[in-house]
Amino acid sequence: MATHIDGKALAAKVKDQVRAEAAKLSRRPGLAVVLVGDDPASQVYVRGKEKDCAECGIESFEHRLPAETTQEDLLALVRELNADSAVDGILVQLPLPAHLDEEQIIDAIVPDKDVDCFHPFNVGRMVIGEPVFLPCTPAGVMEMLREYDIPVRGKRCVVLGRSNIVGKPMAMLLTQSDGTVTLCHSRTERLAEITREADILVSAVGRTRFVTADMVKDGAVVIDVAMNRDENGRLCGDVDFGPVEQKASCITPVPGGVGPMTRALLMRNILTAAQNHQG
Ligand code: NAP
Repeated sequence: MATHIDGKALAAKVKDQVRAEAAKLSRRPGLAVVLVGDDPASQVYVRGKEKDCAECGIESFEHRLPAETTQEDLLALVRELNADSAVDGILVQLPLPAHLDEEQIIDAIVPDKDVDCFHPFNVGRMVIGEPVFLPCTPAGVMEMLREYDIPVRGKRCVVLGRSNIVGKPMAMLLTQSDGTVTLCHSRTERLAEITREADILVSAVGRTRFVTADMVKDGAVVIDVAMNRDENGRLCGDVDFGPVEQKASCITPVPGGVGPMTRALLMRNILTAAQNHQG
């Protein structure tokens, strides 16, 4: 039976560290959260981030805009926040309503306040190994591996999913930790043959029970990034948890795995931004 990697406990530890470091600063770190429209899932995420900020001694400034907000108005707000010295990090909750150009909005955030690490400048810095901020979800996974003494060096790592926010940066961070990485996607052929070679298997596909026990090597470490709903509306990941935990050596549950760590790593990035701004 696999060891469960307790993301909730690790996240609490990271947030404790952030709170202690934030208290040493001359001014409280500040996060501006911009929410456009009334997407229910986005509202839940924003509430969660505000709660995390409160726990970590970080000030949060909420900007709720109507769904019909124009690109010009949103850009104007981003520019205002860029110039606001009380704001260390800017988070524009995605997805934006369809008429808005997400890429242009992300590009407008000054890189030193891009605490999500979505700006091309920060993505480039991460790729060359000189990060300002690390992307929260993959950084959270790396922290989990470190905390559970799971070595990456020389290991076969397989990442399922190639999104810009999870799969690609995940593959990059594993590569930088000396893993031998294969990045898979919907066009990958003979997927199960590849996943069965993985010492570390990270799944970020977004499909319930996608990773079945026959796709997993005995003793593998299985990291489930996904947040899906099963047929009963319950939160679950990509991994067919019951059968896979019988084969894996370590596994992340959903909920209580990668999700809380993503949120905690966002808090750490805000702290880093504030430390940089305060010299
Ligand atoms: P995404 O942009 O939809 O990407 C999904 C990826 O899965 C794509 O690269 C896609 O391939 C690949 N894929 C789809 N079907 C596949 C198949 N049959 N075989 C192999 N690969 C396949 O999703 P995302 O934003 O990365 O998110 C992935 C999951 O993680 C979602 O459940 C999301 O809710 C969750 N998530 C969780 C956190 C967290 O904090 N825990 C953070 C972010 C996301 P193509 O590129 O070829 O289409």
